[in-house]
Amino acid sequence: MINLILFGPPGSGKGTQAAHLVERYGLVHISTGDLFRQEIGNGTPLGKEAQAYISRGELVPDHITIGMLRNKVEAHPEAHGFIFDGFPRTIPQAEALDRLMAEEGAAIHLLIALEVEDEEIVRRIKGRAAISGRADDANESIIRNRIAVYKNETAPVFDYYARQGKSHRVNGIGSIEEIFQRLCIIIDPLVEPGESAPA
Ligand code: AMP
Repeated sequence: MINLILFGPPGSGKGTQAAHLVERYGLVHISTGDLFRQEIGNGTPLGKEAQAYISRGELVPDHITIGMLRNKVEAHPEAHGFIFDGFPRTIPQAEALDRLMAEEGAAIHLLIALEVEDEEIVRRIKGRAAISGRADDANESIIRNRIAVYKNETAPVFDYYARQGKSHRVNGIGSIEEIFQRLCIIIDPLVEPGESAPA
């Protein structure tokens, strides 16, 4: 049982790495960005409310985001653990996540931040815009706003978990496989023998 937060700026490779980690460790992947895009796609009231913030590259308010995350966690009582991707992005979200984990008799074990410089982020996100089809990926000033929001509102979450001795940094530049190995070196010691899928 391990609960981990995959952290880092937009475009740092969290979603790509989460998919590989799910395969290796059998965890449930929760991406709040993906959940919002599903809600928008389904035309729900929550999706409509979130869309205005997302289209400006701003954070969706905490009460909306935390409620949605809680529902998703509670929908998986069978989970052997979670990978949180794109959550928490504010200190109140981190505090809410710790409370939720405690209610479930669990805890966050690790936060791993993928480090990528700003210009590389802009290059990557612009590059993926055609494939992702995301309006917030296609506009450079919105990309730069998302980076600024990350630095101002989200980066303190790293320090919040560092105070609990849980935060790690990983170089987010390299091949997908190289970066995956860097993550496994940190996660493997926390996984009980037999729990990890064969490499
Ligand atoms: P992402 O797919 O993680 O890049 O998220 C896309 C957008 O969804 C972000 O730019 C925010 O507008 C919104 N979003 C995703 N996760 C959160 C969160 N934890 N808190 C607030 N807004 C979020």
